[in-house]
Amino acid sequence: MNSMSINLLEKAAYLLKQDHLVAIPTETVYGLAANAFSDQAVAKIYSFKNRPTFNPLIIHCKDLKMAQNLANFNENALKLAKVFWPGPLTLVLPLKETSPISKLATAGLKTIALRIPAHPLALKILELADIPLAAPSANPSETISPTTAFHVENAFKSSNGLSLIIDGGPCQVGLESTIIDLSENIPRLLRPGKITKEDLKSFIIEFSNASLEADVIKAPGQLKRHYSPSIPLQKNVQQVNERQALLAFGHSPLIGAKKTLNLSSSANLIEAAANFFSMLHELDSIEFESIAVMSIPQYGIGIAINDRLSRAASS
Ligand code: AMP
Ligand code: MG
Repeated sequence: MNSMSINLLEKAAYLLKQDHLVAIPTETVYGLAANAFSDQAVAKIYSFKNRPTFNPLIIHCKDLKMAQNLANFNENALKLAKVFWPGPLTLVLPLKETSPISKLATAGLKTIALRIPAHPLALKILELADIPLAAPSANPSETISPTTAFHVENAFKSSNGLSLIIDGGPCQVGLESTIIDLSENIPRLLRPGKITKEDLKSFIIEFSNASLEADVIKAPGQLKRHYSPSIPLQKNVQQVNERQALLAFGHSPLIGAKKTLNLSSSANLIEAAANFFSMLHELDSIEFESIAVMSIPQYGIGIAINDRLSRAASS
């Protein structure tokens, strides 16, 4: 980090402490960050994104100590935090009664979603600001998540209120964090991500099998429609026509689409995840009738890609 970028990060930290919104890079997607202690700052996130206020936010911390001031960590939580933080794993934990976090950020729940991001610029901003940051994806609610600073700029170009966008290059993971709920006796996966259930099973033996639908009541953020392009999207297509855009995967992309982008021509799921939102942005154009997506294997991070595709296809 050179002195110019340090100045910019100091400016970001200063603006955040003054309750302004700043877009920051993380390893998952770009985040729209605000002071998580301030109702006023958090309210700006909801209104700027047009996000329903019953949908709680993930709170980003600089270290475990900051996180432990906000939530009660049980044995499982400590184990996972030590192994996977900083990284793309969000833990839902019982909120500490003394926690000064904005009630708007947790949507009034008795739990809180916490994570330490692994991106060096996000960590530096957290360190400089020395406050927890509420940071959902930096895009209008329901639209495609941003994985570059350009996506953020483009999404909000006609809005006022975003004080600064920190450009940290394309996001390495490219999909939102895995969310695991540890606030009850039996852990439950709320959202799939790069860290898979299999990864977590090495540390946590028992998982609740209760369906994700049941979580809609408990965690209203698992909205069915999300990550949506402005044109229709079809999953698992076997053929395409010349009016469609094709999001292909693997060595043998289908032939005949107006435009084709391949998530990974070597069928690498990690590469596919990193390209996913960026390619959706590129194909989301009225010059196409719809976006046709070839099938993605349902294992590893492919499970998370298919989760996002189902929500993008939902109308
Ligand atoms: P997003 O910011 O859109 O990536 O979504 C954050 C996700 O975290 C939402 O799906 C929320 O439902 C989930 N979340 C945040 N806080 C909680 C919480 N206290 N309990 C359960 N889920 C949560
Ligand atoms: Mg989002």
